[in-house]
Amino acid sequence: MPEAIPPVSPTRMGHNLRRRPLRDTGRVRLPDLRPGDRVALLTPGSATYLDVVLGLLGEGVVPIPLDPRLTAVERERILGPLSPALRVEDDEVLAAVAERFPRVPGRLPRARPMHCTSGTTGVPKGVWSGLLDDAAAAALVAEERDLWGFAADDVNLVLSPLYHSAPLRFATGTLLVGGRVVIPGPFDPATVTAAIERDRPTTMFCVPTHLQRLFAHWDAVGTPDLSCFRLVAHAGAPCPRELKERLIATFPPGTTWEFYGSTEGQFTACRSEEWQQRPGTVGRARPGRELSVDDDGLIWCVVPEHARFSYWGAPEKTAAAWRETPSGPAFTVGDLGRLDADGYLHFDGRREDLVITGGVNVYPLEVEEALREHPDVADVAVLGVDDPQWGQRVCAAVVPRSDAATAESLGAFARERLAPPKRPKTWLLVDDLPRTLTGKVRRDDLRALLEGPPQ
Ligand code: ATP
Repeated sequence: MPEAIPPVSPTRMGHNLRRRPLRDTGRVRLPDLRPGDRVALLTPGSATYLDVVLGLLGEGVVPIPLDPRLTAVERERILGPLSPALRVEDDEVLAAVAERFPRVPGRLPRARPMHCTSGTTGVPKGVWSGLLDDAAAAALVAEERDLWGFAADDVNLVLSPLYHSAPLRFATGTLLVGGRVVIPGPFDPATVTAAIERDRPTTMFCVPTHLQRLFAHWDAVGTPDLSCFRLVAHAGAPCPRELKERLIATFPPGTTWEFYGSTEGQFTACRSEEWQQRPGTVGRARPGRELSVDDDGLIWCVVPEHARFSYWGAPEKTAAAWRETPSGPAFTVGDLGRLDADGYLHFDGRREDLVITGGVNVYPLEVEEALREHPDVADVAVLGVDDPQWGQRVCAAVVPRSDAATAESLGAFARERLAPPKRPKTWLLVDDLPRTLTGKVRRDDLRALLEGPPQ
């Protein structure tokens, strides 16, 4: 085995030369990596990146896919507790890992990639699933393949960065059955359109923001031939009704799916026909899962053993996420929802985003849906801001379609559609809503803008 060395430096500043990889006659010497060791991946998504993910997983070495744009301070904050044995920060090291851990077609992953949550609600949490035995590895691969129908003739178009769990699952799931993956690079509607025309993909995972941007582009240049698609799945953030209807109308019939899930696991799957019968639902429990909603409205999901996880180095967070149920251990990620009599889930938002104003619970999503009906509202986010009288007050940040969207006209509209506690007391007109790459509104950024006395 090559000589063991400490991990790659987290910075390029050279102040920590002791931790750089040893380079010998142009070759990178890697540390000795054993099953259960972690390897941080900090390079952009590429074919080699995917080979490395599957090559490492085949040996039970756990990749931690991370945003390459993280600053040195952010890398430290996330990776410090995860103590990776290696940090892959450039293509040379990536290629060396690919050479040492080749992707072997047909080989099952012996672990799940260690993804960190997006950190929308605080510091990203490392989701750790341990090593998989033969049965668990086979079950994990089979359930993804069976749910999405991955097959050797699939071509998966990658729109999102591969350090997010869903796009990586789609890409690796496709490769594991012998399919192909196309990575056009950072999301750009023109580049994606060109890739659709050139590579004729069969599957794609996206977030609602991607769809919004693709449709705006296609309005200007024309919609490409989409008949190549057999599966277009979206998740990650609420999909406004109008957008969903356009998605269903634009792609070939029966190809569009939504699922509700998180870095920790996927709870539901929903065909567009199911959504059309129950507009607003995010679907029923995916096979092998069982959903419930407790008295506080929290969504819980029972998962099979191979899909269980803990938060790395945070036993108190793990304990808070799991509870015993008669059907087995169930976890929550702190989302709120409702189940109808047929088991269809309606997503009501994150517990952290719930606004409690004068003792009344207000769900931002419900208010946002109502305000989206206003003809001059292009986009809207509703959030609670501390208020001395009400505890919190409801505020709305609106992207106007025209000058007609004034606080007065919006207020009048809200009075017609919403009960008093749900009516925004503060209106903020903005050019654009700040969003994460996964399409989630950055409510903290808006809160900072909104803090202060009611207008
Ligand atoms: P952190 O836990 O660190 O705050 P995060 O929860 O933003 O990060 P992700 O795992 O990327 O990390 O996001 C999962 C969340 O995205 C879910 O908990 C849910 O709130 C939201 N979400 C996922 N799918 C859907 C969907 N179909 N509709 C609405 N919201 C969704």
